[in-house]
Amino acid sequence: MSKDIMKVVIIGSGLVGAATAIALRKAGHECTLYDQVNLAEAAAKATGGIVAVDFGDSGGSVMLRSNALRVIRDLGLLHEVMANSSPNILTHFQKIDGSAPIVHKTMEEVARIEPEKDLQAPRQIMRSKLHSIFVTAAHKAGVKTIVGKKAIRVEETTDRGVNIRFVDGSGVYGDLVVGADGIHSVTRRQIFGEETKPKFTGVIGYIGVVDLQVNNIALDQTCSFFVDRMKKHLVSTFKVSEKLAAIQVMVFGDPDPEEEEGYRPYSDLPKHSARLGDLIESWGVPKNIAEMMRKSFRISPASIYDLPDLTAYHKGHVVLLGDSAHGMVPNAGLGLGAGIEDVGVFFELLQKYPDEKDLDTVLRLYSAIRVPSATFQSNNSRTLAEQFYSTTFGSSGGQFLLRLFINAINYNLYQPIKEVYDCKKVVERAIAKEKNEAQ
Ligand SMILES: Cc1cc2nc3c(=O)[nH]c(=O)nc-3n(C[C@H](O)[C@H](O)[C@H](O)COP(=O)(O)OP(=O)(O)OC[C@H]3O[C@@H](n4cnc5c(N)ncnc54)[C@H](O)[C@@H]3O)c2cc1C
Repeated sequence: MSKDIMKVVIIGSGLVGAATAIALRKAGHECTLYDQVNLAEAAAKATGGIVAVDFGDSGGSVMLRSNALRVIRDLGLLHEVMANSSPNILTHFQKIDGSAPIVHKTMEEVARIEPEKDLQAPRQIMRSKLHSIFVTAAHKAGVKTIVGKKAIRVEETTDRGVNIRFVDGSGVYGDLVVGADGIHSVTRRQIFGEETKPKFTGVIGYIGVVDLQVNNIALDQTCSFFVDRMKKHLVSTFKVSEKLAAIQVMVFGDPDPEEEEGYRPYSDLPKHSARLGDLIESWGVPKNIAEMMRKSFRISPASIYDLPDLTAYHKGHVVLLGDSAHGMVPNAGLGLGAGIEDVGVFFELLQKYPDEKDLDTVLRLYSAIRVPSATFQSNNSRTLAEQFYSTTFGSSGGQFLLRLFINAINYNLYQPIKEVYDCKKVVERAIAKEKNEAQ
Protein backbone atom coordinates (compact mmCIF):
# COMPACT_ATOMS: atom_id res chain seq x y z
CA MET A 1 0.00 0.00 0.00
CA SER A 2 1.48 3.37 -0.94
CA LYS A 3 1.98 5.97 1.70
CA ASP A 4 0.67 9.43 0.93
CA ILE A 5 2.63 12.38 2.19
CA MET A 6 0.42 14.93 3.89
CA LYS A 7 0.98 18.65 3.66
CA VAL A 8 0.56 19.81 7.25
CA VAL A 9 0.24 23.42 8.37
CA ILE A 10 1.11 24.10 12.03
CA ILE A 11 -0.18 27.33 13.52
CA GLY A 12 2.10 28.32 16.39
CA SER A 13 5.82 27.59 16.68
CA GLY A 14 5.92 27.52 20.49
CA LEU A 15 7.19 24.50 22.40
CA VAL A 16 4.36 22.19 21.34
CA GLY A 17 4.18 23.41 17.71
CA ALA A 18 7.93 22.91 17.23
CA ALA A 19 7.85 19.45 18.87
CA THR A 20 4.88 18.46 16.68
CA ALA A 21 6.82 19.53 13.58
CA ILE A 22 9.70 17.20 14.52
CA ALA A 23 7.24 14.33 15.06
CA LEU A 24 5.51 14.95 11.71
CA ARG A 25 8.83 15.02 9.83
CA LYS A 26 9.93 11.81 11.56
CA ALA A 27 6.66 10.24 10.45
CA GLY A 28 7.49 11.32 6.88
CA HIS A 29 5.08 14.22 6.36
CA GLU A 30 5.69 17.67 4.94
CA CYS A 31 5.06 20.46 7.39
CA THR A 32 5.53 24.18 7.87
CA LEU A 33 5.34 26.20 11.07
CA TYR A 34 3.56 29.57 11.01
CA ASP A 35 3.82 32.01 13.89
CA GLN A 36 2.70 35.55 14.51
CA VAL A 37 5.96 36.29 16.34
CA ASN A 38 9.12 37.25 14.51
CA LEU A 39 11.88 36.13 16.91
CA ALA A 40 12.88 32.97 15.08
CA GLU A 41 13.51 34.84 11.82
CA ALA A 42 15.79 37.37 13.45
CA ALA A 43 17.82 34.66 15.15
CA ALA A 44 17.86 32.43 12.06
CA LYS A 45 19.08 35.31 9.86
CA ALA A 46 21.83 36.07 12.31
CA THR A 47 23.07 32.49 12.12
CA GLY A 48 22.75 31.86 8.40
CA GLY A 49 19.26 30.41 8.48
CA ILE A 50 19.36 27.11 10.33
CA VAL A 51 21.29 26.58 13.52
CA ALA A 52 21.58 28.00 17.03
CA VAL A 53 18.26 29.76 17.40
CA ASP A 54 18.25 31.16 20.91
CA PHE A 55 15.50 33.34 22.28
CA GLY A 56 17.31 34.65 25.33
CA ASP A 57 16.26 33.83 28.85
CA SER A 58 12.77 35.30 28.82
CA GLY A 59 9.84 33.19 30.00
CA GLY A 60 11.45 31.56 33.04
CA SER A 61 11.77 27.82 33.41
CA VAL A 62 9.62 24.71 33.00
CA MET A 63 9.74 21.35 34.72
CA LEU A 64 9.69 18.17 32.63
CA ARG A 65 8.63 14.90 34.27
CA SER A 66 9.26 11.41 32.90
CA ASN A 67 6.08 11.48 30.76
CA ALA A 68 7.55 14.38 28.73
CA LEU A 69 11.14 13.07 28.88
CA ARG A 70 10.02 9.79 27.28
CA VAL A 71 8.50 11.64 24.31
CA ILE A 72 11.57 13.87 24.04
CA ARG A 73 13.65 10.68 23.85
CA ASP A 74 11.43 9.37 21.01
CA LEU A 75 12.07 12.64 19.18
CA GLY A 76 15.84 12.04 19.56
CA LEU A 77 16.45 15.03 21.86
CA LEU A 78 16.81 13.53 25.35
CA HIS A 79 20.58 13.84 25.51
CA GLU A 80 20.49 17.54 24.67
CA VAL A 81 17.65 18.25 27.11
CA MET A 82 19.46 16.39 29.92
CA ALA A 83 22.67 18.31 29.21
CA ASN A 84 20.87 21.64 29.48
CA SER A 85 18.68 20.98 32.53
CA SER A 86 19.09 20.01 36.17
CA PRO A 87 17.30 17.44 38.34
CA ASN A 88 14.54 18.43 40.72
CA ILE A 89 14.68 15.96 43.61
CA LEU A 90 12.56 17.83 46.18
CA THR A 91 9.87 20.52 46.03
CA HIS A 92 9.43 22.89 48.99
CA PHE A 93 6.18 24.57 50.02
CA GLN A 94 6.37 27.18 52.78
CA LYS A 95 4.63 30.21 54.17
CA ILE A 96 5.61 33.51 52.57
CA ASP A 97 8.43 34.10 55.12
CA GLY A 98 9.93 30.63 54.60
CA SER A 99 8.45 29.19 57.82
CA ALA A 100 6.49 25.91 58.20
CA PRO A 101 8.28 24.20 55.27
CA ILE A 102 6.74 21.11 53.69
CA VAL A 103 8.99 18.94 51.54
CA HIS A 104 7.52 16.95 48.67
CA LYS A 105 9.77 14.05 47.66
CA THR A 106 9.25 14.73 43.97
CA MET A 107 11.74 12.24 42.55
CA GLU A 108 10.68 9.46 44.94
CA GLU A 109 7.07 9.90 43.83
CA VAL A 110 8.05 9.54 40.16
CA ALA A 111 10.40 6.61 40.95
CA ARG A 112 7.42 4.55 42.18
CA ILE A 113 5.99 4.48 38.67
CA GLU A 114 9.00 5.14 36.41
CA PRO A 115 11.28 2.07 36.16
CA GLU A 116 14.01 3.86 34.18
CA LYS A 117 16.45 5.45 36.63
CA ASP A 118 17.61 8.22 34.24
CA LEU A 119 14.06 9.48 33.87
CA GLN A 120 13.05 9.49 37.54
CA ALA A 121 14.17 13.00 38.43
CA PRO A 122 12.03 15.74 36.88
CA ARG A 123 14.23 18.25 35.01
CA GLN A 124 14.22 22.04 35.30
CA ILE A 125 15.10 23.76 32.04
CA MET A 126 14.93 27.33 30.78
CA ARG A 127 11.91 27.62 28.52
CA SER A 128 14.02 29.55 25.97
CA LYS A 129 16.66 26.78 25.93
CA LEU A 130 14.06 24.05 25.39
CA HIS A 131 12.46 26.10 22.61
CA SER A 132 15.83 26.60 21.00
CA ILE A 133 16.50 22.81 21.10
CA PHE A 134 13.09 22.04 19.52
CA VAL A 135 13.22 24.76 16.84
CA THR A 136 16.78 23.89 15.84
CA ALA A 137 15.87 20.17 15.56
CA ALA A 138 12.78 21.03 13.47
CA HIS A 139 14.88 23.17 11.11
CA LYS A 140 17.49 20.42 10.79
CA ALA A 141 14.69 17.99 9.93
CA GLY A 142 13.70 20.31 7.06
CA VAL A 143 10.80 22.17 8.64
CA LYS A 144 10.36 25.75 7.45
CA THR A 145 9.23 28.36 9.97
CA ILE A 146 7.37 31.31 8.51
CA VAL A 147 6.98 34.16 10.97
CA GLY A 148 5.03 37.39 11.10
CA LYS A 149 1.95 35.30 10.16
CA LYS A 150 -0.98 35.84 12.50
CA ALA A 151 -3.75 33.40 11.61
CA ILE A 152 -7.21 34.97 11.65
CA ARG A 153 -9.43 32.48 9.75
CA VAL A 154 -9.50 28.71 9.59
CA GLU A 155 -11.98 27.15 7.14
CA GLU A 156 -12.59 23.61 6.02
CA THR A 157 -12.73 23.18 2.24
CA THR A 158 -15.07 20.93 0.27
CA ASP A 159 -12.24 18.44 -0.44
CA ARG A 160 -11.75 18.00 3.35
CA GLY A 161 -8.63 20.15 3.45
CA VAL A 162 -8.27 23.38 5.39
CA ASN A 163 -7.60 26.98 4.34
CA ILE A 164 -5.82 29.36 6.68
CA ARG A 165 -5.97 33.11 6.21
CA PHE A 166 -3.41 35.43 7.82
CA VAL A 167 -3.83 39.01 8.93
CA ASP A 168 -1.52 40.25 6.12
CA GLY A 169 -4.04 38.93 3.56
CA SER A 170 -1.99 35.87 2.53
CA GLY A 171 -3.25 32.31 2.85
CA VAL A 172 -2.15 28.68 2.90
CA TYR A 173 -3.82 25.29 2.36
CA GLY A 174 -3.18 22.17 4.40
CA ASP A 175 -4.39 18.55 4.14
CA LEU A 176 -4.22 18.79 7.93
CA VAL A 177 -3.98 21.85 10.17
CA VAL A 178 -2.45 21.62 13.65
CA GLY A 179 -3.58 24.35 16.04
CA ALA A 180 -0.61 24.77 18.40
CA ASP A 181 -1.39 28.43 18.95
CA GLY A 182 -1.67 28.42 22.72
CA ILE A 183 -4.45 29.00 25.23
CA HIS A 184 -6.02 31.91 23.26
CA SER A 185 -5.98 29.78 20.06
CA VAL A 186 -7.66 31.35 17.02
CA THR A 187 -7.67 27.89 15.41
CA ARG A 188 -9.79 26.51 18.29
CA ARG A 189 -12.16 29.47 18.37
CA GLN A 190 -12.68 29.33 14.60
CA ILE A 191 -13.36 25.59 14.54
CA PHE A 192 -15.06 24.98 17.91
CA GLY A 193 -16.70 28.40 18.40
CA GLU A 194 -16.13 31.52 20.47
CA GLU A 195 -17.59 29.82 23.55
CA THR A 196 -14.29 27.93 23.89
CA LYS A 197 -12.61 31.07 25.19
CA PRO A 198 -10.34 30.64 28.24
CA LYS A 199 -11.41 32.19 31.53
CA PHE A 200 -9.21 34.70 33.35
CA THR A 201 -8.46 33.41 36.87
CA GLY A 202 -7.72 36.84 38.34
CA VAL A 203 -4.06 35.91 38.81
CA ILE A 204 -1.36 38.03 37.21
CA GLY A 205 2.32 38.30 37.77
CA TYR A 206 5.85 38.54 36.49
CA ILE A 207 8.53 36.00 35.74
CA GLY A 208 12.19 36.96 36.03
CA VAL A 209 15.45 35.20 35.36
CA VAL A 210 18.48 35.88 37.52
CA ASP A 211 22.17 35.11 37.36
CA LEU A 212 22.86 33.74 40.85
CA GLN A 213 26.63 33.70 40.47
CA VAL A 214 27.11 37.22 39.15
CA ASN A 215 24.81 38.57 41.87
CA ASN A 216 26.25 36.33 44.59
CA ILE A 217 22.83 35.01 45.64
CA ALA A 218 22.61 31.75 47.59
CA LEU A 219 19.71 29.47 46.60
CA ASP A 220 19.68 25.93 48.00
CA GLN A 221 16.30 24.67 46.88
CA THR A 222 15.64 23.73 43.24
CA CYS A 223 11.87 24.28 43.32
CA SER A 224 10.24 26.29 46.05
CA PHE A 225 6.88 27.98 46.70
CA PHE A 226 6.26 30.80 49.22
CA VAL A 227 2.57 31.46 49.79
CA ASP A 228 0.48 33.94 51.77
CA ARG A 229 -2.98 32.42 51.57
CA MET A 230 -4.76 35.30 53.29
CA LYS A 231 -3.32 37.98 50.98
CA LYS A 232 -3.20 35.60 47.98
CA HIS A 233 0.46 36.21 47.18
CA LEU A 234 2.57 33.48 45.65
CA VAL A 235 6.31 33.62 44.95
CA SER A 236 8.02 30.60 43.34
CA THR A 237 11.69 29.97 42.60
CA PHE A 238 13.24 27.44 40.22
CA LYS A 239 16.97 26.75 40.14
CA VAL A 240 17.99 25.63 36.65
CA SER A 241 21.76 25.52 37.19
CA GLU A 242 24.35 26.82 39.66
CA LYS A 243 24.26 29.99 37.57
CA LEU A 244 20.65 30.55 36.51
CA ALA A 245 17.31 30.57 38.32
CA ALA A 246 13.80 31.78 37.57
CA ILE A 247 11.43 33.55 39.95
CA GLN A 248 7.65 34.02 39.57
CA VAL A 249 5.61 36.57 41.52
CA MET A 250 1.84 36.05 41.31
CA VAL A 251 -1.04 38.03 42.85
CA PHE A 252 -4.79 37.51 42.85
CA GLY A 253 -6.98 40.44 41.78
CA ASP A 254 -10.28 41.19 43.57
CA PRO A 255 -13.41 39.74 41.89
CA ASP A 256 -15.50 42.52 40.31
CA PRO A 257 -18.54 41.63 38.16
CA GLU A 258 -18.42 45.13 36.60
CA GLU A 259 -15.10 44.34 34.94
CA GLU A 260 -15.04 42.56 31.56
CA GLU A 261 -12.83 39.71 32.81
CA GLY A 262 -14.55 39.50 36.22
CA TYR A 263 -11.64 40.95 38.21
CA ARG A 264 -10.47 44.43 39.07
CA PRO A 265 -7.10 44.90 37.37
CA TYR A 266 -4.36 44.60 39.95
CA SER A 267 -2.73 47.99 39.57
CA ASP A 268 -0.19 47.95 42.39
CA LEU A 269 2.20 45.47 40.85
CA PRO A 270 5.28 47.30 39.55
CA LYS A 271 6.85 46.19 36.26
CA HIS A 272 10.32 47.09 37.40
CA SER A 273 12.44 44.29 38.91
CA ALA A 274 13.98 46.40 41.70
CA ARG A 275 10.56 47.67 42.81
CA LEU A 276 9.08 44.17 42.54
CA GLY A 277 11.94 42.92 44.74
CA ASP A 278 11.15 45.62 47.32
CA LEU A 279 7.44 44.76 47.15
CA ILE A 280 7.93 41.05 47.81
CA GLU A 281 10.33 41.83 50.63
CA SER A 282 7.49 43.90 52.16
CA TRP A 283 5.30 40.77 51.78
CA GLY A 284 7.82 39.00 54.03
CA VAL A 285 9.80 36.71 51.68
CA PRO A 286 13.35 35.81 52.81
CA LYS A 287 16.02 38.34 51.78
CA ASN A 288 17.73 36.09 49.18
CA ILE A 289 14.37 35.59 47.41
CA ALA A 290 13.65 39.33 47.28
CA GLU A 291 17.18 39.83 45.94
CA MET A 292 16.51 37.29 43.17
CA MET A 293 13.64 39.45 41.93
CA ARG A 294 15.60 42.69 42.32
CA LYS A 295 18.47 41.36 40.22
CA SER A 296 16.31 39.64 37.57
CA PHE A 297 16.70 40.56 33.94
CA ARG A 298 14.16 40.15 31.11
CA ILE A 299 11.00 40.31 33.20
CA SER A 300 8.04 38.71 31.37
CA PRO A 301 4.41 39.39 32.35
CA ALA A 302 2.01 36.46 32.87
CA SER A 303 -1.79 36.46 33.16
CA ILE A 304 -3.21 33.13 34.23
CA TYR A 305 -6.16 31.70 32.29
CA ASP A 306 -7.98 28.37 32.50
CA LEU A 307 -9.53 26.77 29.43
CA PRO A 308 -12.90 25.04 29.93
CA ASP A 309 -12.62 21.29 29.22
CA LEU A 310 -13.27 20.37 25.58
CA THR A 311 -14.93 17.09 24.61
CA ALA A 312 -12.79 16.59 21.47
CA TYR A 313 -9.46 17.92 20.26
CA HIS A 314 -10.20 17.61 16.55
CA LYS A 315 -12.88 18.48 14.06
CA GLY A 316 -12.61 17.55 10.38
CA HIS A 317 -8.94 17.82 9.51
CA VAL A 318 -8.05 20.36 12.20
CA VAL A 319 -6.40 19.08 15.36
CA LEU A 320 -5.40 20.88 18.56
CA LEU A 321 -2.22 20.11 20.50
CA GLY A 322 -0.88 21.73 23.69
CA ASP A 323 -2.44 24.72 25.42
CA SER A 324 -4.83 25.33 22.52
CA ALA A 325 -6.53 22.04 23.52
CA HIS A 326 -6.16 22.13 27.31
CA GLY A 327 -4.48 25.30 28.59
CA MET A 328 -4.50 24.85 32.35
CA VAL A 329 -3.57 26.87 35.44
CA PRO A 330 0.16 26.40 36.01
CA ASN A 331 0.09 25.57 39.76
CA ALA A 332 0.89 21.88 39.36
CA GLY A 333 3.47 22.39 36.57
CA LEU A 334 1.60 19.91 34.34
CA GLY A 335 0.67 22.05 31.28
CA LEU A 336 3.65 21.54 29.04
CA GLY A 337 3.94 17.88 30.04
CA ALA A 338 0.35 17.37 28.86
CA GLY A 339 1.20 19.11 25.56
CA ILE A 340 4.27 16.92 25.07
CA GLU A 341 2.11 13.84 25.78
CA ASP A 342 -0.18 15.06 22.94
CA VAL A 343 2.85 15.10 20.63
CA GLY A 344 3.91 11.60 21.76
CA VAL A 345 0.47 10.10 21.18
CA PHE A 346 0.05 11.87 17.83
CA PHE A 347 3.50 10.62 16.75
CA GLU A 348 2.68 7.00 17.71
CA LEU A 349 -0.62 7.16 15.84
CA LEU A 350 1.01 8.62 12.72
CA GLN A 351 3.48 5.75 12.74
CA LYS A 352 0.75 3.11 13.24
CA TYR A 353 -1.41 4.65 10.49
CA PRO A 354 1.01 6.13 7.92
CA ASP A 355 -1.54 6.36 5.06
CA GLU A 356 -3.33 9.66 4.54
CA LYS A 357 -6.56 7.69 4.05
CA ASP A 358 -6.32 6.73 7.75
CA LEU A 359 -6.12 10.34 8.94
CA ASP A 360 -9.68 10.22 10.34
CA THR A 361 -8.73 7.17 12.43
CA VAL A 362 -5.62 8.94 13.72
CA LEU A 363 -7.61 12.01 14.74
CA ARG A 364 -10.49 10.04 16.28
CA LEU A 365 -8.09 7.96 18.38
CA TYR A 366 -6.05 11.06 19.28
CA SER A 367 -9.12 12.76 20.80
CA ALA A 368 -10.29 9.54 22.49
CA ILE A 369 -6.89 9.06 24.14
CA ARG A 370 -5.98 12.64 25.00
CA VAL A 371 -9.25 14.22 26.19
CA PRO A 372 -9.66 12.13 29.41
CA SER A 373 -5.97 12.30 30.25
CA ALA A 374 -5.53 16.07 29.80
CA THR A 375 -8.88 16.78 31.52
CA PHE A 376 -7.61 14.81 34.53
CA GLN A 377 -4.44 16.95 34.57
CA SER A 378 -6.43 20.19 34.23
CA ASN A 379 -8.54 19.14 37.22
CA ASN A 380 -5.44 18.28 39.29
CA SER A 381 -4.04 21.72 38.47
CA ARG A 382 -7.31 23.39 39.50
CA THR A 383 -7.33 21.50 42.82
CA LEU A 384 -3.78 22.58 43.62
CA ALA A 385 -4.56 26.20 42.63
CA GLU A 386 -7.57 26.19 44.98
CA GLN A 387 -5.41 24.78 47.74
CA PHE A 388 -2.80 27.53 47.17
CA TYR A 389 -5.34 30.33 47.41
CA SER A 390 -7.82 28.83 49.90
CA THR A 391 -8.44 30.99 52.97
CA THR A 392 -11.15 28.72 54.47
CA PHE A 393 -8.92 27.35 57.23
CA GLY A 394 -6.71 30.43 57.65
CA SER A 395 -3.02 30.55 56.89
CA SER A 396 -1.86 27.85 59.33
CA GLY A 397 -4.87 25.59 58.68
CA GLY A 398 -4.24 25.78 54.93
CA GLN A 399 -0.57 24.91 55.42
CA PHE A 400 -1.58 22.02 57.71
CA LEU A 401 -3.96 20.60 55.07
CA LEU A 402 -1.27 20.91 52.39
CA ARG A 403 1.14 19.10 54.76
CA LEU A 404 -1.36 16.23 55.15
CA PHE A 405 -1.79 16.03 51.37
CA ILE A 406 1.97 16.11 50.62
CA ASN A 407 2.75 13.61 53.39
CA ALA A 408 0.09 11.26 52.03
CA ILE A 409 2.00 11.35 48.72
CA ASN A 410 5.43 11.07 50.41
CA TYR A 411 4.35 7.98 52.38
CA ASN A 412 2.63 6.48 49.33
CA LEU A 413 -0.82 6.60 50.94
CA TYR A 414 -2.09 8.63 47.99
CA GLN A 415 -0.81 8.33 44.44
CA PRO A 416 -2.16 11.09 42.15
CA ILE A 417 -0.62 9.44 39.06
CA LYS A 418 -0.83 5.65 39.10
CA GLU A 419 1.19 4.77 36.03
CA VAL A 420 3.91 6.37 33.92
CA TYR A 421 2.49 7.81 30.70
CA ASP A 422 3.94 5.56 28.01
CA CYS A 423 2.57 6.79 24.67
CA LYS A 424 3.27 3.49 22.88
CA LYS A 425 1.30 1.48 25.46
CA VAL A 426 -1.49 4.03 25.63
CA VAL A 427 -1.94 3.94 21.85
CA GLU A 428 -1.80 0.13 21.68
CA ARG A 429 -4.46 -0.12 24.41
CA ALA A 430 -6.76 2.34 22.64
CA ILE A 431 -6.47 0.44 19.35
CA ALA A 432 -7.15 -2.89 21.12
CA LYS A 433 -10.17 -1.38 22.89
CA GLU A 434 -11.63 -0.12 19.59
CA LYS A 435 -11.11 -3.56 18.01
CA ASN A 436 -12.82 -5.30 20.96
CA GLU A 437 -15.75 -2.92 20.83
CA ALA A 438 -16.11 -3.47 17.08
CA GLN A 439 -16.34 -7.27 17.52
C1 LIG B 1 3.81 31.06 34.68
C2 LIG B 1 3.75 29.72 33.99
C3 LIG B 1 4.57 28.67 34.43
C4 LIG B 1 4.50 27.40 33.83
N1 LIG B 1 5.30 26.37 34.29
C5 LIG B 1 5.19 25.14 33.75
C6 LIG B 1 5.99 24.01 34.22
O1 LIG B 1 6.81 24.14 35.11
N2 LIG B 1 5.81 22.79 33.64
C7 LIG B 1 4.90 22.60 32.64
O2 LIG B 1 4.74 21.46 32.16
N3 LIG B 1 4.14 23.63 32.17
C8 LIG B 1 4.26 24.88 32.69
N4 LIG B 1 3.51 25.91 32.21
C9 LIG B 1 2.62 25.66 31.07
C10 LIG B 1 3.40 25.73 29.77
O3 LIG B 1 4.12 26.93 29.73
C11 LIG B 1 2.43 25.66 28.59
O4 LIG B 1 1.64 24.51 28.74
C12 LIG B 1 3.21 25.58 27.26
O5 LIG B 1 4.04 26.70 27.08
C13 LIG B 1 2.23 25.49 26.10
O6 LIG B 1 2.94 25.45 24.90
P1 LIG B 1 2.18 25.67 23.53
O7 LIG B 1 3.24 25.53 22.49
O8 LIG B 1 0.97 24.82 23.47
O9 LIG B 1 1.64 27.17 23.58
P2 LIG B 1 2.44 28.53 23.61
O10 LIG B 1 3.72 28.39 24.34
O11 LIG B 1 1.47 29.55 24.12
O12 LIG B 1 2.79 28.84 22.09
C14 LIG B 1 1.81 29.25 21.17
C15 LIG B 1 2.49 29.85 19.96
O13 LIG B 1 1.48 30.18 19.01
C16 LIG B 1 1.70 31.47 18.50
N5 LIG B 1 0.39 32.02 18.11
C17 LIG B 1 -0.64 32.32 18.93
N6 LIG B 1 -1.69 32.79 18.22
C18 LIG B 1 -1.31 32.76 16.92
C19 LIG B 1 -1.97 33.12 15.71
N7 LIG B 1 -3.21 33.59 15.68
N8 LIG B 1 -1.29 32.96 14.54
C20 LIG B 1 -0.01 32.49 14.54
N9 LIG B 1 0.65 32.14 15.67
C21 LIG B 1 0.01 32.27 16.84
C22 LIG B 1 2.37 32.23 19.63
O14 LIG B 1 3.12 33.34 19.15
C23 LIG B 1 3.25 31.15 20.26
O15 LIG B 1 4.52 31.10 19.67
C24 LIG B 1 3.58 27.19 32.78
C25 LIG B 1 2.77 28.25 32.32
C26 LIG B 1 2.85 29.51 32.92
C27 LIG B 1 1.96 30.64 32.42
